[in-house]
Amino acid sequence: MSSKRGRLVIVSGPTASGKSTLWRRLVDHPRVRFSVSATTRAPRDGEVDGRDYCFVEDARFDAMVEQGELLEWAEVHGRRYGTPRGPVVEAIDAGFDVVLEIDVQGAVQLRESGLPTISIFVSPPSREVLEQRLRDRGTETEEQMQRRLTIVDQEMAAAKEYDHVVINDDLERMIAQVEELLGLNQEQS
Ligand code: 5GP
Repeated sequence: MSSKRGRLVIVSGPTASGKSTLWRRLVDHPRVRFSVSATTRAPRDGEVDGRDYCFVEDARFDAMVEQGELLEWAEVHGRRYGTPRGPVVEAIDAGFDVVLEIDVQGAVQLRESGLPTISIFVSPPSREVLEQRLRDRGTETEEQMQRRLTIVDQEMAAAKEYDHVVINDDLERMIAQVEELLGLNQEQS
């Protein structure tokens, strides 16, 4: 393992922007790990506890906050999400880059944490495309979807705070662009 400390790779973007597909591909690289967040929201179909999220009760989340177990946390769409501190710090100390798929509030907290970060904002090509992707996904009720869409504009306004903004008009091209930004193509060992 490299003696160099790894980085926190912050990936944010509006719902259905393609950021989940992006992180799943990034963790194929041997030098990259994913940080599994804790959340109080219910699992969606196909999501696995401990892989996609650690699904916890409110009381457990409260305890994690009180005991300083979270590097950052935020309330998003009425549910709480947070990054467990221990596994992330261990991984970057061991030289891994750790991908965090977190919202814009979490990204602000991590930029102020003093840890090495590189932040990437994944933008859909347009709001219309994003709305269509969300409908195609079909995992949300109409009301949940409207709630998500109303905060898309605020999320898009935060893009300028990120080190890099990538536009997901073509998934493979976008993933290759991020791999290049992270220098993952040169380091396969
Ligand atoms: P979803 O419920 O669609 O999986 O995620 C909703 C939002 O929560 C997304 O914007 C996602 O990036 C964000 N999120 C997921 N995990 C975390 C986390 O640990 N911290 C923060 N701040 N946001 C998170």
